[in-house]
Amino acid sequence: RTATVSDSKCLSSPWGEIQIGKETLTDHVFGEVESWADKPSVTCGSSGRSYDYGMMRMMVERCANALVGHLKMKPGEKIGLILPNIPEFVVLIHGAMKAGLVVTFANPLYTAVEIQRQFNDCGVKAIATIEMFMPVAQEVSKSLKDYKGTIWVGGEDDKAKGIHGLRSLLMADHKADLPTLNCDDVCLIPYSSGTTGMPKGVMLTHKNLVCNLKQVKCPEMMKDGVVKGKDEVVLTVPPFFHIYGFNGILNYNLSLGYHIVTMPKFTPDDYIKCLVEHEPTTLFVVPSLLAFLATHPLVKKSHLQSIKIIMVGAAPTTDAMMEKFLLKCEKTKDDIRLLQGYGMTESSPVTLLTPFDYPYGKVGSVGQLVPSTQAKIVSLTDGEMLGSHKSGELWLKGPQVMKGYWNNEAATKETVDSDGWLHTGDVAYYDEDYYFYIVDRTKELIKVKGNQVSPTEVENVILERPEVADVAVVGIPDPLAGELPKAFVVLKSNHKLTEKEVYDTVAQKLTKYKHLEGGVVFMDAIPRNAAGKIMRNELKVLGGKSKH
Ligand code: AMP
Repeated sequence: RTATVSDSKCLSSPWGEIQIGKETLTDHVFGEVESWADKPSVTCGSSGRSYDYGMMRMMVERCANALVGHLKMKPGEKIGLILPNIPEFVVLIHGAMKAGLVVTFANPLYTAVEIQRQFNDCGVKAIATIEMFMPVAQEVSKSLKDYKGTIWVGGEDDKAKGIHGLRSLLMADHKADLPTLNCDDVCLIPYSSGTTGMPKGVMLTHKNLVCNLKQVKCPEMMKDGVVKGKDEVVLTVPPFFHIYGFNGILNYNLSLGYHIVTMPKFTPDDYIKCLVEHEPTTLFVVPSLLAFLATHPLVKKSHLQSIKIIMVGAAPTTDAMMEKFLLKCEKTKDDIRLLQGYGMTESSPVTLLTPFDYPYGKVGSVGQLVPSTQAKIVSLTDGEMLGSHKSGELWLKGPQVMKGYWNNEAATKETVDSDGWLHTGDVAYYDEDYYFYIVDRTKELIKVKGNQVSPTEVENVILERPEVADVAVVGIPDPLAGELPKAFVVLKSNHKLTEKEVYDTVAQKLTKYKHLEGGVVFMDAIPRNAAGKIMRNELKVLGGKSKH
C-alpha cells in the first residue's frame, strides 16, 4: 500500500482511517469480554496466579466501587501505582479508571526520591503497591497532601497506618455511585522527559489510548496478528508501568481476549520456564530481550518452537540481531513474523508499525504509519519538508497524540505545535514504499534497555556535589543495553573527586538503569554553543571512544 503524499510532502497513512468513538479505555478493553469470559486473562509466570476474563472484569468493577465508596476518591483525583507486572495491575489500573481517577505509574525500583518527585508533581492521593515496595510507598505517602490511603496487593488491612488490603476491599463488595466518564477526560499521566529536561507528566485521554488500540488492530494492516478470541498465548516482560507495556501490550492483548503470561521480575531461568510451560505463540520484547533470546546459551532452539510472532518495540534493534534470533530457532522469516514498532509515551505510544506481511527487504524498518496518522520529515538545517530517502526530524499527527504535558504549557508548546504536530526529536527517513527508518535522535533522551534516562535528572544529582562546577551526561552505544549513561564532569578549582565518588552519588539517588555504567570522565570545560547549550554530539563522539 502507498501512503498519500500531499503537496507539502506531508504523508498520510496508507492504511486509511479509524472510526473515532466515545468509549472509555476500560469499556474498550473489556467490551467483548463475554465472548471469552472463561479464558485466562493474565497469569503470573513466576507464581502461577491467574484470573479468567470474567473474574478480572468483576474485580475491576469491585475495585472501582471500593475506591469511590470506601477510600472516598473523587473523579479526577490521582492514584499512583508502584507495581511490577502482576495480574492485579489490571484490577487496579482499570478499577481506578472506571472510578474516574487519573493513574500515574512509577517503576517500583525507583528510589523514594524519584517517586516522591513524580507523585508530588501530579498530586497523588492514594498509592497501590505490594509488600516489597511498602516501605518506599509509606515514605512517599508522608510527603503527599490530603493523602487518602495505601492499597496493599497481597496484604491485610492496617487501619492505623491507612493501609487497605486489596483482597478485603474486593471481598467487601462496596457499592458506590460511579461517575459518568467522558472520552476526552485524562485518565493516565505517565512520565517522560520528552525532547529536553526533567521527566514531565504526559496527559493521555481515554480517546488517545482507545484510538491507539484501534490503530494497531487495523485488520487490513495486521491481518492474522489480530484475530479476536483466538487461542494466542502472549509472553511479555516489558513493564506495564511504561506506555508500551501498558497500552501497546497489556490493553492490546486484553482487548483481543488473548492469554497474557508475565512476570514481576525478569530472570533468565523464570523466562525460560515460561517458554517451556506456556508455549507462547507471541512474544513482546524490547531489543535487549531479543538479544538475550538470540545469544544467551541457556535459551535453546527447543524453547522457541511455539513462537509465531515477535513484536519488538521501545528502542532500536538491528537486522543482525533479528537474523541471529532466526538462526537460533532454525526458522525463517516465513515461520516467525518479526514485527517492529515505533512510538513515544507522548503518542499513546504507537505511530509506526510493520504491517503483518511486510516484504523481507524492510526488516530494519519500523514500518508504516498506522491508520489516521500523518508524518512529515523536516530538515534539521533549514526546516524545509523533505521527500523520500532524506533524513530529518520526524513530526507526527494523529488522535493518539497527547493532550499536553501536565502543568507545563511551555514544554507542551515546544513539543506539539499549534497545528497539532508532535515534534518527536527523532531523526528518520522514509523509502519509496513509505516505510520509515529511525536513524538518530536530536533530543537529549538516553534509552537504556528501553527505559528512559533524562540526562538533566542525572546532571542535577551530580551538580548537588559542591565540588562540581559543570556536568553533562550523554548516552554511549552499548551492544546489550542500547545505550549507557556517561558523565563528563568539570571540577571547581582546588576541588577533588574520584570517578567512583561521582558514580556513587548517582547510585545513591537514582534507580539502577540510570547509573553511570558508561563511565565518568573529568574535563576542563563542557563544550557549549553560543546559547550555552551543551553540545552533546561532540561529547558522544568523545564518549564512544573512551573505555569505562
Ligand atoms: P518512550 O516515550 O519511553 O517510549 O521513548 C520514546 C523514544 O524511544 C522515541 O522517541 C525514540 O527515541 C525511542 N524509540 C522508540 N521506539 C523505537 C524504535 N523502534 N526504534 C528506534 N527508537 C525508538
